[in-house]
Order: sequence, then C-alpha cells, then structure tokens
Amino acid sequence: MSEASYRYLILGGGMVAGYAAKEFVAQGGKPGDLGIVSADSDLPYERPPLSKSYLAGKDDDASVLIEKAAFYREHAIDVRLNTPIERVELKGKLLKGRAGDSFRFETLVIATGARVRTLECPGATLDGVLYLRSLNDSRAIRKHLDSGKRAVIIGSGFIGMEVASQCAQKGLQTTLVFPEDRVGKRVFSPEISAFFQKYYQDRGVRLMDGKKVASIEGKERVEAVTLDSAERVPADMVIAGIGVVPETSLFENSGLKIDNGIVVNQYLETNTEGVLAAGDVANYMDVLFGKQRRVEHWDNATKQGQYAAGRLLGQREAFRNVPYFFSDVFDLSYEYWGDSTGADRVVHRGDMKSSSFSAWWMRDGRVVAAFVMNRPDDERNAAQKWIEEKAHVRWEGLADANRGVNEAEQAR
Ligand code: NAP
Repeated sequence: MSEASYRYLILGGGMVAGYAAKEFVAQGGKPGDLGIVSADSDLPYERPPLSKSYLAGKDDDASVLIEKAAFYREHAIDVRLNTPIERVELKGKLLKGRAGDSFRFETLVIATGARVRTLECPGATLDGVLYLRSLNDSRAIRKHLDSGKRAVIIGSGFIGMEVASQCAQKGLQTTLVFPEDRVGKRVFSPEISAFFQKYYQDRGVRLMDGKKVASIEGKERVEAVTLDSAERVPADMVIAGIGVVPETSLFENSGLKIDNGIVVNQYLETNTEGVLAAGDVANYMDVLFGKQRRVEHWDNATKQGQYAAGRLLGQREAFRNVPYFFSDVFDLSYEYWGDSTGADRVVHRGDMKSSSFSAWWMRDGRVVAAFVMNRPDDERNAAQKWIEEKAHVRWEGLADANRGVNEAEQAR
C-alpha cells in the first residue's frame, strides 16, 4: 500500500483533468506538483467523439486522447488510472483508494463528473443493454453496431439523437423510443423538434414518441423491447440515453455542500478551504445569468478545467462563460448558446424546412439563448455576444432573414 503526496490533486480523470493538465503546463506549472487520480482505465479523452466519430469508426483510441502518455511523463504529471477512491477526508487532506493507497494533497479539484441513469425495468441487466459514458462503453457499442441488425434507442436527449443517427447510418434498423411528445424537448422549440423528426424519419429511423419501456425481453441476450403501450419492438441491442446524475456519492458525509452536484461559488470554490470542484459535478454560480447552474457539456468541462489550472496557479477572477454546446447528427451540425429558462418569446430565422435556420429565445427584449445551424457567421457571433452583453434586440428585426442579424440590435 503506497502513499503519495501532491501539491495539487485532481480527483477524476475526465475532460476537466485533461484540459487542466494542458493549461497547467501552458502556464508554466511546476513539474511534479500535479497529480490525477482516475477510476477510468484510459488517459483523459474527449467525450464528444464517443457518440459521433468514434462510433462511426472515424476516430480511434489514440485520436480521442486529450494528450498522449508522453505529455504527462514529460511534465511529471502523475496520472493514476484504474484507481477508484473509496473514502475522502477533506479536512485531513487525504483520499483513500479502494486498493488501500493514500493520496495526500494541499489543494484538491473534484472533477468526478456524472454517472449514467440506468433502466430499472425487468430485463434491464440482459446482455445487449448498453449505456454510453466512457470510452469503454463506446468500444462496446461499436462492436454491437458492427454485428447487430436492430437497435432500440431509449431517450431523445443528446445520446439518443446522436446514437440513433449513427445506428441508422450504419444501416441498422433503428427505433427511437421516448416518453415526451417530441424529440429534444428540453432544448428544442416545437419547430426545431418537427424539423429533426422529419429528418430522422426520412433517413429510416422509426420514432415512437409518448412511450416508455415496460420490459426488455430475452433469454440471455436482448431479443425485444416491450413498451407501456404493449407494443413489442424486436431488437438485438438497446442503448439507453436517459440522462446522468452528478457523481457526489463519495462526499455525502464530507461536509461539502451538495445540492444537484457540489455547490461552488463563481471561483469554483466549495465550502471547504483548499477544495475546488469543476465540470459536470459542479453546481457553480453563473455570474452572467446570476444563478447557480450545473452544465453537462464538453465546453463547460474544458473551460472549467482550464480555469481550475489558473486557480491552482494563483489566479482568482470569477469564472465567466456563456453556456454552450454543439451536436452532430447525420450530416448536420448545430450549436446552442445560453439558457432559455423563462423566455417569453422564441423567434425563428431562415427556412425551417431547410437545414439552415436559427432560433432565438428572448426575455424582456433580450436574447437569452440561441440555436444556430448552417447560418452565416454573423449569427453565430451575435448569439454569444448578445447573451454575454445582455443586448437589447428587436425581435421583428431578428425574424427578417433578408436583413443582416446585427441590424436587429438596438442602440443602448
Ligand atoms: P439528456 O440529454 O439529459 O437526455 C436524457 C433524456 O431522457 C431526457 O429527455 C430525459 O427526460 C429522458 N429520460 C429520463 N428518464 C427516462 C426514462 N426512464 N426513459 C426514457 N427517457 C428518459 O441525457 P443523455 O442523452 O443520456 O446524455 C447524457 C449526458 O451526456 C448529458 O449530460 C448530455 O448533456 C451529455 N451529452 C452531451 C452531448 C452534446 O453536448 N452534444 C452529446 C452526448 C451526451 P427528463 O428531462 O424528463 O429527465
């Protein structure tokens, strides 16, 4: 049983850790000062390809790594893989590994991320019931896609939409089952959902809306999915993308404030001195929107990872970032900025029947969120800038796609 001591330790070997390590080195952090303890068996990797290009076979194990092993070696960053932590003593500045190892730190960054929500119906543990979170999960799904013929995807969030598009492109008979009345309901306007539904159906995906899974059938392997409507859908694999929960279980009696993740301020500081949290697990104070929020996207993990490195090296300006995500499905890519909560109007721009349009959620005459797909760059730029600057915008101007988007901004 070994004991190791670090000036700075990151708990969790995901994107936060990868981008923090990169930034730490870029800013001249001292070799030997930083350690990463990870339960994963792979070095920190990019997660977006796992449900896109990696599944499609266009990326491989090496190309999804944020940095290769040599980078950590050269900069004396100690990365402990396959090292699940079992116990934390934050006041004593100590982590205890399941294998009995001890890890001491002066400052800790908690970046434990999130774990998948799992199905609870009969048959949920059959072979062929799959989830997508880690590189290992994506490897397993890729194998199934190569040999399977019929996929049932559960959930119409990001994983559901992206994986269904990959399955259909691989030529599998693909069914997307979801309880809501339209796809992507949490982020899309009804018009955007309608566009994607048609796009998926035109490419052979069967959509079963308003349906829940009652049971999964099969002797040892998945053979079919039975829905609450009593319909039976034959399948040789089920891939569930039904959301994630922040990984806070280690910290339940640690003294940390936990409320939908680990609560941190605008400097990503927890209520315990010398302990920061970042990425999917962090419920942080968003100074732009003036509220606590937890974000489960690549952009947030990378930016908070970089920010955490700066914090370790002595910087302390508030974390400021317009929430952002992107997605690729079939031959489409779209982007989304902001937070549509409380919007009193949504304005669409462009042709909702083509794949070139944008949507703008407004509250009190200001844009609070925007969806942009195949639009001129001035729309992408305006989306982020307006949200950040809380600009006043005329909705009639936004709706008129014959005029440049910037003409919609009102003088202050
Ligand atoms: P998600 O985007 O949160 O979507 C999950 C969906 O499943 C939600 O609509 C959820 O409804 C629904 N749901 C919950 N329980 C269900 C059940 N028992 N049966 C059917 N549907 C159910 O989560 P995800 O697609 O699983 O993705 C996992 C995480 O990876 C998320 O944090 C996501 O942001 C991230 N991710 C992001 C990207 C991207 O940014 N492009 C791509 C892939 C994954 P409720 O809202 O009512 O719970």
